[in-house]
Parts: sequence; structure tokens; C-alpha cells
Amino acid sequence: MKQDKSRKRLFGTNGVRGIFGKDLTIELTIDLIYSLSTYFKYGPIIVGCDGRKSNEILSNVVTSTLNSGGLDVIYAGKVPTPCLQFAIKNKKCNGGIMITASHNPPEYNGIKPCSKEGVEISREDELIVEEIFYSKKFAKIDGTNKTYKDDSVIREYIDKVQSLIDVDKIKSRAFKVVLDLGNGVQSLVAPYLLKNLGCEVITVYSDIDGNFPGRGPEPTVENLNTLSKMVKDNNADFGVAYDGDGDRSIFCDEKGVIHPGDRTAALLVKYLLNTKHKNAEIICPINTTMNVSLVAQELNSKVIETKVGSVEVSREMLKRNAIIGLEENGGFMYGKINQVRDGTMTTALILEMLANSNSFDNDFDSNLKNNQTTNTEEFRTFSELIGSLRKIYQFKTKFQCKSKEIADKIITECIKHGNPMKIDTLDGAKIWIDEETWVMVRPSGTEPLVRMYAESTSETLLDSKVREYTRIIENMIK
Ligand code: MG
Repeated sequence: MKQDKSRKRLFGTNGVRGIFGKDLTIELTIDLIYSLSTYFKYGPIIVGCDGRKSNEILSNVVTSTLNSGGLDVIYAGKVPTPCLQFAIKNKKCNGGIMITASHNPPEYNGIKPCSKEGVEISREDELIVEEIFYSKKFAKIDGTNKTYKDDSVIREYIDKVQSLIDVDKIKSRAFKVVLDLGNGVQSLVAPYLLKNLGCEVITVYSDIDGNFPGRGPEPTVENLNTLSKMVKDNNADFGVAYDGDGDRSIFCDEKGVIHPGDRTAALLVKYLLNTKHKNAEIICPINTTMNVSLVAQELNSKVIETKVGSVEVSREMLKRNAIIGLEENGGFMYGKINQVRDGTMTTALILEMLANSNSFDNDFDSNLKNNQTTNTEEFRTFSELIGSLRKIYQFKTKFQCKSKEIADKIITECIKHGNPMKIDTLDGAKIWIDEETWVMVRPSGTEPLVRMYAESTSETLLDSKVREYTRIIENMIK
């Protein structure tokens, strides 16, 4: 379906989001849910929500509108997004709707529709839903279908996660873990899984609170000081922080150092490719760190790049039936459970990796041979494992533009500039300066701004290239 450029897009990068009562009004929600009922055709549809204040109201609106749209509903209540997405498949539903604005500020909320595969609907299907929304050609509005409450979703999800990891091995290590739950819905799942895995669990910001008074709903390298301190003070093995709806996870090593999402992801990729998923393909957006492709190369695996956005990664994974996918912001996807970002599953894999840290790493094995030692009881810590990755310097920023047209022109200008090694235009422009240095510029899909990402194994080259391209962009914004 072609996009009608004259009208406003409903869907952003991750579902339909906006300020509750202002952009995301009850009226818009009703029309959107009638559109989704028409699109889904039949139920049951499973509905869940995060811990936002407006969800008392929105969950009623969503479930009732689906019912009058002629679809039965299973209502899961408050659950992390990945938990609901797993339940879609597990309970053989025809689709799911998660009511969440993920890491956005408290006044926001959103509607995230997922297909029967347990993954966000495709970009193509978003346009179909928008077409129905604007034409108001709803299949049914006088249904009297029913909503059934179901409180087995979390239990079944935890069982599934446990079936995919080496529970006994993890238990034998009795890890101590600090969980920064960020007042989000991961409070309902992660602590219980970790207790089942024999961990000593220390929680921070564990009350579900739609105002996110702790450290806000988005975990970043900058705002996790409390987590870092708690890990050090308690001599924990590691710490982890989740976003509001629990699909993203950011990790902290035993020394209290917070690591960017894609660095931790590169480490997990290394673990999985070395152990249970040899040669598996890695699906990730084109702005992902080189660390991932370096690890993949070393272990004879292939990286498949997508446009930026978790939906693009999920859909590509589905198409290829891939096991490993990731996004730079702490979204790690393990296809054995589902092709979506999943904070709990990621934590479980980190635990398994640490439980195997005496044996899985090639470099470590060869060191052992060199040292003529047979001691394999030497477990390595999180910081030691992550320290084995190559040091890569990164830069990220964004530039506000007056219009989307200017943002597009900036990309064209950057493409014309200089004499780069190669340029990849899958999404914006990824400009390769040399084999180990790149600068990427891309217009935001939703706002008039240009994002810049850059990486290099050389700090000085990175600085000079960032300055060079920044100059071009700032000249054009003026
Ligand atoms: Mg999220």
C-alpha cells in the first residue's frame, strides 16, 4: 500500500503514541481500535498495558471497543511488552495490543498492535490500518463480544524463559544481582525469574508508578548512578535497568560501570555464537556498533543490516527465522522465545553467559593452552568479559532543522562531500571513511531533525570526521 502523503501519519517508530487526552484522545483511540478490529477481522486479541496512570481508562476503552468491533479479548492486565507479545503466540491469539508509551514521559501513552506472530505489525500493515482509520470504513461497531481476564500470562512466560536456559548451571553460581526496575512493569517479572534462578536479588525503584519518580522511564548510561552505586556497595555480580515497558535493558558490570546497549549486545552475540548458536545470522540496524560485525566475522557468522528501528529488525528476523537480533539502545532479541526486544530474556542470557564464563570464549581457551594450565574453574567477571571486546570510539548527536525538507537536503549534501571509501544509503547515508571509521546521518522519521552516529577505532580520526560533517550540517541549518 502507498502512503498518502497529504495526511498525517498515525504510526511513529513504535506504534501510535502521543500525550493522553491531547494527541491520543479517547475519540482517536476508539477510531484506531475500530480500525484495528477491521484489520484483525477476528479474535481473540490479547490486551495488556504498562503502569501508566491513563491505563485505567485506556485499557477499558481498548477492550470495550474491540468487543463492540466484534472481537473477543483476553485481558492480561499490567505486563511487560515482551511478555504480552509471547502470550499472543502461546495462547494462539489472532493478535495483540499493548498499551504503552515505553520510555516516554508520564503524560504520554500509546497503542502498539502486534500480529499473531507476536511481533509488531509490519510497516505495510500500518498503512492499511491508517487507510481504514481515515476512511472510517469499520467492519462492525455493534458487536457484543466479551473480554476474559487471564492471569496466567506472566507465569507461562517465566516458564518459557527458564526452558531456554541452563537453570541448574545458573543456580549453582548463586549470583547476586541488582535490578533497577525504574518504576516500570518489569517489577512484575524480572525479580521472580531471578529468584527462581537462585539469585540474590536487590531491587531499586520497584514500585510501579506512572509518574516514574525514580530515574525516569528510560535507562541511559547517564542516569543509572543509583544502580551503579548499589552494585558496588553490595558486591553484586552485575546490575541491570529496564525501561518503562520492560523490553529494553542496560547492564552495569560488577565494578559499577554502565555499558551502552550495543556493547553488551556484542558480548552476548559472542557468547551465543561461541556456544549454542554457532554461525547464526545477526540481524541489526545499519547504525549498530562495529563491535557486533567484528565478533560475527571472527566467529564465521553473517550480519544482516536493516533500516533503523526495532520493528524493521523484528520483521527481518521473522522473515529469516533468525535467532539473534539487536538494537543499539539496549534492545536485544532472542528468536528462540520471540523476535522482539525482551529485557527479561536478555537478563537470563547474561546470567547463563556468566555461568559459562570459564569456558565459552575462544580467546580465553587459547590463553589457557598457552599457559599450559588445565584450570577451567576460573570464572570471569562481567567487566573482564566485556573488556575482551575491541575498544571502539562512538559519537551520537542530533541537529534540529526548520523543516523535514532541510533534513533531507543535509543528507544529500553529506553524500556529496569529500571522497569516502563507500556510502551505504539503506537509511539516510552511512559514510565509510575507511574500513574502521564511519559517519552516519539520517533524517528522523517523525520530527524535523537529523541524527548523526559515528564510530572509529581511532579516537582522533573520529573527532576530526565528526567535526567535518558537523560543520556541513550547521552551515545548512543556519
Ligand atoms: Mg520499551
